[in-house]
Amino acid sequence: MDKKLKTYTLQNYRTIPQISALKESDIEAIEVVGRVLPFKTNNYVVNELIDWTRTDDDPIFTLNFPRREMLEKKHYLTVKKMLDEGVDKATFDRKIHEIRLELNPNPAGQEHNVPTLDAVKLKGIQHKYPETVLFFPSQGQTCHAYCTFCFRWPQFSGMSGLKFAMKEADLLLKYLKVHRQVSDVLFTGGDPMTMSASVLSAYIEPLLEPGFEHIHTIRIGTKSLAYWPYRYLSDPDSEQIIALFNKVIAAGKNLSIQAHFNHPTELSTDAVQQAIKAIRATGAQIRTQSPLLKHINDKPELWAEMWRKQVDLGCIPYYMFVARDTGSKAYFELPLEKCWQIFRRAYRQVSGLCRTVRGPSMSDHPGKIQILGVQEVKGEKVFVLRFIQGRNPAWVHIPFFAKYDPKATWFNQLKPAFDEEKFFFEQKPPKDMGSKPFLFE
Ligand SMILES: *Cc1c(COP(=O)(O)O)cnc(C)c1O
Ligand code: SF4
Repeated sequence: MDKKLKTYTLQNYRTIPQISALKESDIEAIEVVGRVLPFKTNNYVVNELIDWTRTDDDPIFTLNFPRREMLEKKHYLTVKKMLDEGVDKATFDRKIHEIRLELNPNPAGQEHNVPTLDAVKLKGIQHKYPETVLFFPSQGQTCHAYCTFCFRWPQFSGMSGLKFAMKEADLLLKYLKVHRQVSDVLFTGGDPMTMSASVLSAYIEPLLEPGFEHIHTIRIGTKSLAYWPYRYLSDPDSEQIIALFNKVIAAGKNLSIQAHFNHPTELSTDAVQQAIKAIRATGAQIRTQSPLLKHINDKPELWAEMWRKQVDLGCIPYYMFVARDTGSKAYFELPLEKCWQIFRRAYRQVSGLCRTVRGPSMSDHPGKIQILGVQEVKGEKVFVLRFIQGRNPAWVHIPFFAKYDPKATWFNQLKPAFDEEKFFFEQKPPKDMGSKPFLFE
């Protein structure tokens, strides 16, 4: 295996030797869907993870390559027709943009989480929960490969205005200096681990200096362990990455790698296991998370296997998410009840050491909403829910109820149970909850 990163996109994927094994209809799907949803993979995924003998249902192939069903039929046919007829570029681009706008490119109102400092909007920051600030370094807004389900797809396809990125680490530092309730900074993207060690250091090292004693934890959200473990083993600056992690720990901070793994296959190679060892040897912890996705990981056994394997490797299972309502959601989505069934059937068969995982959770405008289950209360079938995180912290861990709906796939499709007009958090808050939701100004 060549340890030099080679990426493949719509422009050059035909040079992947294994592509010749695909059916003509699979190639057509890549050509058509790949015009709307961004597509990128690499030599590690292609050579070490994808099982090319079963591309019809291989989960890693499905995670990386566009499939016909990922676009609505009418959109698929529109794009195919334009390709067949060879329309002019302006018309083509306009139509593609229109289709993208129909795919809910900005789910869960993330623009509401952008704070201001001295009347300047800090576009590279999201601050929704008091203790954690999300930072989107502008150099880290890409990934080693793109997941076909990803809700960050608009920022990869250059849809302007939707990109949360900020060059100036200065503004981040200034913001953190005056927000002393923040204990965690989460570097996210894209994938911040696509940045060079020197750029990453420029962002992280200042946080180790005096003035940031309130920052206890630096988190890095990354899919690099699954998609490019050589980042920690043999990349030209992998030693500097490890040195940076050591430095964070030596400064007395927690370093938490929030690693995305969608399938046990991603944990199976020598390279990923070596990379996990190398990171853990620095004193950093690795917490794991993934959305629950039809066609990829919609089996309890598979989650149980994934959590067990993670714990064996010294990782801490952290989140199971419900797939977001964006992009190719229709292809990946599962009814909420099914998500809960998969979660509990996986959870009940693993050791308590795996049960650090929380979910299934929906990150929606009001907060992270966990599906606790389906239950019958006085003859009415209901979903039992609670906030793991709330836009107003007072909402957290209060069970509440939604009318049972076997088809619902996201929180916005749910109605309050017991014929109530509103959920408790939409009503005027009682006095002890404070008069308004948490605000950052
Ligand atoms: C999930 C999330 C966090 C972190 O929440 P934890 O429960 O501390 O992991 C922070 N900000 C946003 C916007 C999130 O969605
Ligand atoms: S690695 Fe993460 S941010 Fe990148 S495409 Fe996949 S899910 Fe999206």
